[in-house]
This record gives sequence, structure tokens and C-alpha cells, in this order.
Amino acid sequence: MKALNSEIKLGAHMPISGGFHRVPEETVKIGGNAFQIFPHNARQWRAKMPDKETIIKFKRNMKKFGIDEDAAFCHSGYLINLASPKEDVWKKSVDLLEKEIRICGALGIKYLNIHPGSHLETGENAGIELIVKGLDEVFKRTDGVDVIVLLENVAPKGSAIGYNFDQLKKIIEMSAFPKRLGITYDTCHGFDAGFDIRDPDGVRRLLDEIDKTVGLERLKMIHLNDSKNPLGAAKDRHESIGFGHIGRDGFKNFLSFDEIRRVPLILETPGGNEEHAADIKRVLEIIGE
Ligand code: MN
Ligand code: MN
Ligand code: ZN
Repeated sequence: MKALNSEIKLGAHMPISGGFHRVPEETVKIGGNAFQIFPHNARQWRAKMPDKETIIKFKRNMKKFGIDEDAAFCHSGYLINLASPKEDVWKKSVDLLEKEIRICGALGIKYLNIHPGSHLETGENAGIELIVKGLDEVFKRTDGVDVIVLLENVAPKGSAIGYNFDQLKKIIEMSAFPKRLGITYDTCHGFDAGFDIRDPDGVRRLLDEIDKTVGLERLKMIHLNDSKNPLGAAKDRHESIGFGHIGRDGFKNFLSFDEIRRVPLILETPGGNEEHAADIKRVLEIIGE
């Protein structure tokens, strides 16, 4: 059994409880040809490098199950906050991000997705400066490791940075390593921030906005999530594809754009592999309609 042979790269966030090397096969089993994983337990500061045997098996299975290297992603742990004004948290975040990049590098995973960070009421500019400083430090330490960090657009919630493209642009422009930065677009977070992708004009506006800020070529992944809440709600509650406020017709419109379909689509919808298999089926149906 090989991965879905399609122009479209589609998959889900996958569990790593069976070991990294199991992920390519599990991806194919749910009908996907792309995946995202955590490089370690996402709720812990601890992370260890995979052993040699795991690395060899993982790489072998990537080939065996036909997963393209541009369709495999890591998502950074939840504790990392590069915008934190607390020095110990910031330092631990830099150290863990370095480790995550090394794990990606060892596995041959090219992209690591991060949430830019939360400034905790010290203000957006102070937060952005800390994010840039942290990223520069990590990139300096991992010089030569071929991993690109993707800044994910987040919901405009609390003091989170990165809910609009001007903020992501600032980070990239201020960075000493802009070549090592790309972006991820999360459809639920974007809907929370007021990007209405349910009609063609809305998608056009979104694509134009991305292009005139960070540049469309930086868009390396889409987190394909429906939203439990209406446009602009800023709640960050993901829903299964077609069952939320973006809805089946909304995704049909969104996915009708070539600029969107050429980007790997990763589901972070509720449930596990079984629910994600159903979501993948639904997305393929929607695209095929
Ligand atoms: Mn995320
Ligand atoms: Mn996401
Ligand atoms: Zn979310």
C-alpha cells in the first residue's frame, strides 16, 4: 500500500506513540500522503534525539510508503514561548526549539511549525523583538541544519502574536536568517481573525494579503480546520471539515484555488486517526465535486 497518488498533498496531525518510524504507514492507512507530528511530548520541556535505528527505519518508511519530503512536518511543543518576557521561559524555549530543529534534521523533516509567541502584556513590539532574537539564536546554533521554521498564523486570542500577516512579515524582515523562515496558514485561526474564505473574493483578498506581506512562496503548509465559531470569534476551536462555520461550501470554494491546492493540507480537526480518515475522505469528495 502506497500513499494516495495525487497532485494534492493531504494528511493529518499524527500520533507518535508507536514511534516515529510508524508514522508513514499510519498516514497511508488513513488515506493520506502528508503528515504532521510533534518531535517529542508536546506538553514537556524534555525532548530526546531519536536513536539511529529509528532514524533509519523512519527514512526507509518515508520512501516505502511514498511520502514526499515536502509533505512531512513537525509542530513545535506547546510550552515554547519565544515572546515571553520571563527570562527562564525564554531561555528554555530557545534551548527546546534548538533541540526540535535537531530532531527534524535527524529525521530528514524539512519544516518545523511554531506559534510565534505571546507577549504577556509587554506589548506587540517587545514580543516581536524577543521572537526575532530567539529565532536568530536558534538559527545561529543550528547553522547547516537544513530545517525551515514555519510561523503559523494564530487566533487573535490573549496576547498572541501572529494573527495577521504584517506581524509575520515583521518577524521575517527583522530576522538575520529570513531564508530559514516560512509560514503556515491555519484556516480556523484565520477565520477567527476575520479572513472569510467562504467566497472567492475572500480567498483572493487572503492570497493578495499573503503575497504583498510575506510572499506566497513562503506559504509551505495549510492547517485545514473548520471552526466551531463564527467569523471573527477569536476562540480557536477547531471543527471537523464541513461541520463548522466555514462549512462544506466554504471549503469547496477555498480548495478551488490552485494557489491553495499546491500547498500541503494538514488536518488538526477533533479526534484521532479514525476521525481524520473520515475528514480526508470528505476533503477529497469536496475537491472532486
Ligand atoms: Mn498550531
Ligand atoms: Mn494550526
Ligand atoms: Zn488552533
